Amino acid sequence: MNKGKKLYEGKAKILYEGPEKGTAIQHFKDDATAFNNLKKSTVEGKGVLNNRISEHILNNINQIGIKTHLIKRLNMREQLVRLVEILPVEFIVRNIATGSLTKKLGIADGTVLSKPLIEYSYKNDDLGDPLVAKEHIIEFNWATATELDLIKKHCLRINDFMQGMFRGVGIKLVDFKLEFGRANIDGKKEIILADEISPDTCRLWDVVSEKKLDKDRFRKDLGNIIQAYQEVARRLGIIHEETNITSVKFGKPKAVNIKKK
Ligand code: 5GP
Repeated sequence: MNKGKKLYEGKAKILYEGPEKGTAIQHFKDDATAFNNLKKSTVEGKGVLNNRISEHILNNINQIGIKTHLIKRLNMREQLVRLVEILPVEFIVRNIATGSLTKKLGIADGTVLSKPLIEYSYKNDDLGDPLVAKEHIIEFNWATATELDLIKKHCLRINDFMQGMFRGVGIKLVDFKLEFGRANIDGKKEIILADEISPDTCRLWDVVSEKKLDKDRFRKDLGNIIQAYQEVARRLGIIHEETNITSVKFGKPKAVNIKKK
C-alpha cells in the first residue's frame, strides 16, 4: 500500500502520513496490551472491529456537533484522519466505579456514581500514566484553562450521548477514555476529539448479566475477547447477525492512492 511514512507506532495503532497536508492514516492493529505493556498478545480481528466501532461512534459524535479527527474509513483496518497535535492527557469519564478507581480509593466495585466523574491522567508510560489535577495540566502547559473547560463540556456531552446509545442496545457504559488534540482547521487551531472509541477504550457491561464486553476480558483473562467485541458491533448494527469476524481471513488492507500535494 502506498502509505506515507510512519509517523508514530503505539500499542494498538500505527499512524502514517496522509495523502494531504494535515491528514494522517490511522491503522488499527490486532495487538493487545495491558498493565503498561506488561501483558501483550495478539487478538485476531480486534483491529478490524475497533476500526468499525470507532468509525460508527465518532461519526455519531460528529453529528451531535463535536468535531473529531475522523475524515472517513478507508478499508478494514484504516481510517483517514486529521493530523492533530495530541494533548498529553487522557480524559477518563466514569459512571460506575471499577478498575483503577476502586483500587486506588477502595470504593466498592460497581458503585453507581451520583454524576459522571472526569479524571485526568498524564500520558507517560514511564510514569504509568499518573492521575493529575487540572492545576498540573495548566501549570505544565499541557492544555490551557479555556481548552480544559471546552474538553470537559465535550466529555460530558459525549458521555450523555454514548450512555443513551449503549443503553438502547442493552449495554451499560461504565467508563471510557478520550483523547483530544489541536488541529489546524481553516487556519485556526481548534480542539477536536482524536484517537479511538472502542471496547479497547471503554468498559461496557451487559445491562442484564453485567457480562463484560470490553478489554477487561483480555486484562482479566476472561476469554472470548473477539466474541465480546463482535457482540458490541452487532448490537450497534455495525455488523450483521451472521457475520463472524473470527472466521474471516484478514489480508493486507486495500491500497489507497496517496498523492502528495
Ligand atoms: P482505569 O483507570 O480504571 O484503568 O480505566 C478507566 C477507563 O479508561 C477504562 O475504560 C479503560 O479502558 C480506559 N483507559 C484508561 N487508560 C487507558 C489506556 O492507556 N489505554 C486504553 N486503551 N484505555 C484506557
